[in-house]
Amino acid sequence: MTARLELRGISRVFEGEIALDNVSVSLQAGQLACLLGPSGCGKSTTLRIAAGVDRQSSGSVLIDGQVASDDKVHMLAENRSIGLMFQDFALFPHLDVTQNIAFGLRNKQGRAARVKDLLERVNLTGYEKKYPHQLSGGEQQRVALARALAPRPRVLLMDEPFSGLDNRLRDDVRDATLELLKAEGTAVLLVTHDPEEAMRMADMIALMRGGRVVQMGAPFNIYNAPVDKAAAAFFSDVNVVTGQVVNALADTPFGQFLVPGVTSGEVEIVIRPQHLKLDFDRNGKGPNPTPSDGVPARGIVTRARYLGDHSLVEFAMDFDGSQLQVTVPGVFMPETGRALWLSMRRDRCFVFPKG
Ligand code: ATP
Repeated sequence: MTARLELRGISRVFEGEIALDNVSVSLQAGQLACLLGPSGCGKSTTLRIAAGVDRQSSGSVLIDGQVASDDKVHMLAENRSIGLMFQDFALFPHLDVTQNIAFGLRNKQGRAARVKDLLERVNLTGYEKKYPHQLSGGEQQRVALARALAPRPRVLLMDEPFSGLDNRLRDDVRDATLELLKAEGTAVLLVTHDPEEAMRMADMIALMRGGRVVQMGAPFNIYNAPVDKAAAAFFSDVNVVTGQVVNALADTPFGQFLVPGVTSGEVEIVIRPQHLKLDFDRNGKGPNPTPSDGVPARGIVTRARYLGDHSLVEFAMDFDGSQLQVTVPGVFMPETGRALWLSMRRDRCFVFPKG
C-alpha cells in the first residue's frame, strides 16, 4: 500500500551542523506515529520539513506516493494538504468558535455541516458563538483540533499539542483527540518528548536521538525490546548490572546469562525496577538458584518510599555496593539497613555489550 506520508532519507544541516541524519519514516492513512526523543534530537525539524516550512538538505518527502519535496521539487506548505497543530495552537482571538473552525474551508458548500459535525465530535456543541478567551485550555485545544481537521487534510502534523494542558485534563483531551483522529482516518505525525504520551497514543514510535531514528516500531516492541541501554532508559528508570563474558555466557552476581553472539568482554544487563523481584522465601537462607530467576543476590535497604500505587525500595548490593531499585506493588516499607535477597526476571532483562 502506498504510504500516506513518507520521509525518505531526510538529512538537514544547519550552518555545518547535522541536525537530521538520514531520517526515514513512513505512515499509512489512519495511522498515528510519534517522533519521540529528548530535547534537541530533531523532532521539530523533521516535522517542519514534512510540513514544507523548512527544506531538507537531502532526501525526499512523499505524500500519497507523489514527491512533495526532493532536490528538484519543493511544494509549498499550503499545497500539501497537511494540517498543522503546533505547541502554540493560537486560535484567532477575534473569530468565534465557528469562524475559527471554518477558517480553512474555502468552499461554502457543506461548510456549516462540517463545522457542526466537528463541534459534535469534539463535544463542543453550544459553543459556536463563544470567543477563544471564553474557553478553557482544553476547550481551546479541541477547537484547534477541529480547525486543523476541518479541511480533511491528508496528513496532520502535531508538535507537543498537549503540553500546555494540566495532567488530568491532558489525559481526557488526548483520548478524545485520538478518537476523533481515528474516526477521520487521518495520518498523524506527532512530536513528543513524553514516553507515556507516545505509548498512549502511537501506533508506531520512532525513537530519535542526536538527529537519527535509533529505533522504530510498535510501542510494545519499543518498550520490551529496546535497541540499547539509552532506549530502555528513555521509558523508565533502569538498573544496570555488569557481567563478564566467557564462551557466550556472562557471569554476574545474579548468575549466568546467555549472551548469544558475544564471545568476550563485558556486557550490561539492564532491567526495569518492576522486574527485579524480592525473594522473601529465601530471605536469610542464602542463595538458592532457580532456572528462571537465576541466583538471588543480597542487598541492604538504603531507602524505601511509598508512591501511591507502588513502593520504591533502593538497595546497596553486597556484591559491589552498587545501587539497585525495585518497585513493589502497594505498600512495602522495609526499614533502612534490612537485608533482603533480590532476583532478576530473566525474561525481562535486556543484555547489551558494554559501550
Ligand atoms: P525540542 O523537543 O526541544 O523542541 P527537537 O527534538 O524538536 O527539540 P529540533 O528543534 O528539531 O529538536 O532541533 C534539532 C537541532 O537542530 C538542535 O540542535 C537545534 O539547535 C538545531 N536547529 C533547529 N533549527 C535550527 C535553525 N533554524 N538554525 C540552526 N540550528 C537549528
